Amino acid sequence: MHTSGGTSLLPMTESRRFYLETLGCPKNQVDSDKITGSMLADGMVATDDPALADVVVVNTCAFIDEARRESIDTILALDDRRKPSSQLVVTGCMAERYGDELAAALPEVDRVAGFGVAIEAPRARTLIPVTQVPLPTFDLLNLPRPASSRPWAYVKVAEGCNRSCGFCAIPSFRGPQRSRDVASVIAEVEALDVREIVLVAQDLASYGTDRPDDLGAGSIVPLVQAVGALVDRVRLLYLYPSDLNDTLIDVMLESGVPYFDLSLQHVSKPLLRRMRRWGDGERFLERINAIRSREPDAALRSNFIVGYPGETERDHDELLRFVEDAQLDWCGFFSFSPEEGTHAMTLDGHVPASLISERLGELRELQDAITAERRDALIGRHLSVLIDEPGIARSHFEAPEIDGVIHVDMTLDVGAIVSVDIMDANGPDLIAVGGFVPDDPDAAMMS
Ligand code: SF4
Repeated sequence: MHTSGGTSLLPMTESRRFYLETLGCPKNQVDSDKITGSMLADGMVATDDPALADVVVVNTCAFIDEARRESIDTILALDDRRKPSSQLVVTGCMAERYGDELAAALPEVDRVAGFGVAIEAPRARTLIPVTQVPLPTFDLLNLPRPASSRPWAYVKVAEGCNRSCGFCAIPSFRGPQRSRDVASVIAEVEALDVREIVLVAQDLASYGTDRPDDLGAGSIVPLVQAVGALVDRVRLLYLYPSDLNDTLIDVMLESGVPYFDLSLQHVSKPLLRRMRRWGDGERFLERINAIRSREPDAALRSNFIVGYPGETERDHDELLRFVEDAQLDWCGFFSFSPEEGTHAMTLDGHVPASLISERLGELRELQDAITAERRDALIGRHLSVLIDEPGIARSHFEAPEIDGVIHVDMTLDVGAIVSVDIMDANGPDLIAVGGFVPDDPDAAMMS
């Protein structure tokens, strides 16, 4: 559970407690941090126990069926545990996308709040359907956040998306892309007071393209440089491959975190076109090789969808070959999930669930072996790591909460950047000894 809170329009006469549970992706965590900041500013206090809370908030995810089921299970479980006088509030993607249905189907819920809506409401079982809520606003995006309790933090730099990928419903409910001002991002980075910033957005490399006249000529490059001047590490997640140009690659290499999270989704050209996406395996390999020729130590991650309508045995074999050839450090494979209102729903060529699961199994087995081999190859290296929590650290190879970790001495200070020796590997995780503070962390990272 993560504590974070909502925003109240009521004057607070006593310290009321809130409990917040966050589901879904890192972008939701950012919203939750802001909800927490807002509730704390309203005089409320966070609690880890939903039974003690006056306001119980569930920040939901609606990305795929499984996430929606988890959201509903969480809402019902918290309803069982909360005290009768409390308010149960549902916010996040599911509230935004299925507000009316949620409000009708779950009478347990006191309030369904879309984006930019006050979380706390007068104590009454009044359902507020999302249809009464204006279009997504910038409120959540620009709300202040409390200083981070960890030495790293996600920062969301844009909301919405201008693309129309065949499998994705996000643009239909998050709206078109709206990039934040550089100054507001910088103010948030300064307030967070961390050593590593992880920049996120639905389509990160497109940051600024909706405001080319006033945001870095429509490029994320100036923003990465400005954030990089304030913190030790800047990490970028979710890069659409066509936007990863040489300038951006160079800036990322200079940022202290040569980590490339490429959103590839597949490699078969005909299937990518059915997905309404750019590129093919050959172009992706060219990009990957260009990155590695500039920085052999670059870490690479990607995600792929398995079983998109029309995916043939040939497409699948092409993906297997690509995974073998690309030797990425990390890969996520997800089964296709049909989403209402998407282009994919209009396509034929449905792939049976049993075949999807067989293909997923083959891909995961192959990648697990590649990941393990690449982790083994780090044994004997000195790496610069950030201590995230006692005994747990990360080098540039590992994104927080997504990849493996490095186990280090429990006595190393949280928030320190130190140099360690990698002694062993255990699947995705590494085991290290040492922990001296390097004179030059960048040099140590690459040694
Ligand atoms: S880039 Fe594609 S997958 Fe990502 S949010 Fe936009 S439409 Fe969805």
